[in-house]
Amino acid sequence: MQLYKDQNLRVHNSLSGKKELFQPINEGHIGMYVCGPTVYSNVHLGNCRTFMSFDMIFRYFKHLGFKVRYVRNITDAGHLENDADEGEDKIAKKAKLEQIEPMEVVQRYTVDFHNTLQKFNLLPPSIEPTATGHIIEQIEIIKDILKKGLAYEVNGSVYFDVVKFNEAHEYGKLSGRKLEDMIANTRELTAQDEKKNPQDFALWKKAEPQHIMRWPSPWGDGFPGWHLECTAMSTKYLGEIFDIHGGGMDLKFPHHECEIAQAEASTGKSPVKYWMHANMLTLNGKKMSKSTGNNIYPSEIFSGDNNILSKVYSPAVVRFFMMQAHYTSILDLSDDALLASEKGYHRLMEAMTGLKDLKTGTTSDFDVATWKQKCYDAMNDDFNTPILIAHLFDAVKHINLIKDDQETISGEDKELLEMTLNAFVYDVLGIENQALAKDDSNALNGVMELLIQIRNDARANKDFATSDKIRDELTALGIQLKDGKDGTSFSIN
Ligand SMILES: [Zn+2]
Repeated sequence: MQLYKDQNLRVHNSLSGKKELFQPINEGHIGMYVCGPTVYSNVHLGNCRTFMSFDMIFRYFKHLGFKVRYVRNITDAGHLENDADEGEDKIAKKAKLEQIEPMEVVQRYTVDFHNTLQKFNLLPPSIEPTATGHIIEQIEIIKDILKKGLAYEVNGSVYFDVVKFNEAHEYGKLSGRKLEDMIANTRELTAQDEKKNPQDFALWKKAEPQHIMRWPSPWGDGFPGWHLECTAMSTKYLGEIFDIHGGGMDLKFPHHECEIAQAEASTGKSPVKYWMHANMLTLNGKKMSKSTGNNIYPSEIFSGDNNILSKVYSPAVVRFFMMQAHYTSILDLSDDALLASEKGYHRLMEAMTGLKDLKTGTTSDFDVATWKQKCYDAMNDDFNTPILIAHLFDAVKHINLIKDDQETISGEDKELLEMTLNAFVYDVLGIENQALAKDDSNALNGVMELLIQIRNDARANKDFATSDKIRDELTALGIQLKDGKDGTSFSIN
């Protein structure tokens, strides 16, 4: 039997503002869409937190036995400066600055994005579609919305008619805004504006002659509006109605509101059952911002190349730190907070590494079965990872007492404890045990020492065929030997 049948999971739905019992549309299956990055710069640590939160959610669903199709897109066109409907494309702007092709920008920062998320031990999504790969699907949706009379064309651009849409639907229901208030609080349109109302948004924009990223359409050469790609890709891979749509809190308005409007206008259906939003990361109590210098990139944390933190922190420690906060809470990153997380991380890993050698007795002072359900209860309460981690440390306390002969544990309980800890720490929270990774490098060092010794012996015996063979084969593997006056050392490319 699948675990999810036993566990009553509740998730906070941004649409209702309430925690709701989670019931997927098709039993045992989950369709989840998360807005991915716009790949025009190195991935921000704040974005990493968002993707990590949804990675933990994805992992818990899988742990519970659901079959999950997780779609996370790459925005490689259509996202203009300041998230606006006018101005330069973020990717084209960067391409001009660096004098390279827009697709070179996309490639460079997609690679950085993947590398960084891999360091943080995120699982890849099931499908990672791109905006440029779905231009045809986007054009089809625009045609549909035009046919329904909820969009209009002006000079080769197409805009969504928010006021008309609001007559039969509710624009603003996700972010809790009323269209009348929005209209009252915005500036008047100027004569040059093509829009009928300031709240209208672009579905398709005409490409000016200097705009490089352009595609043919029934309305002339142009490019899709930023909000449209997510509607096109989520519908294509998950259907007109799917279970979960996630993203950063900052995307709730206007991006997600516009996604709802586009989908409802074209299909007549509300597209998403549960909207989920992850909160932001601050640095030393302030909003992260490149312009004020209150900013740090993941690579700067791992290398120590920054003047914000006192030392290097590993990706596993940073991930553990992020998991210590609930995904809907604002989390503040500081040196003190990371130091505390590092200490906690080592305590947890030490306890887990020593678990195998734990002595067992005939009785248990630690009620493992009750503790295990408490761990599930925490996760079932809208993925409450800080409470889960508190329970994990309760287990650590017992493990240490058993080690000190102050408590006992039965063989059966020890097995259950080990299984549950491994599942929650490694599979659900995605925390890696670096001590195990270090063992790998220790083993490599040992093997290299042995090879260097064999090569030295061969050279001493004038067996140059063997010594050359060792050096050449290692070079082929990307390992360079360097002979110095203090002996031979090696480096890996
Ligand atoms: Zn999106």
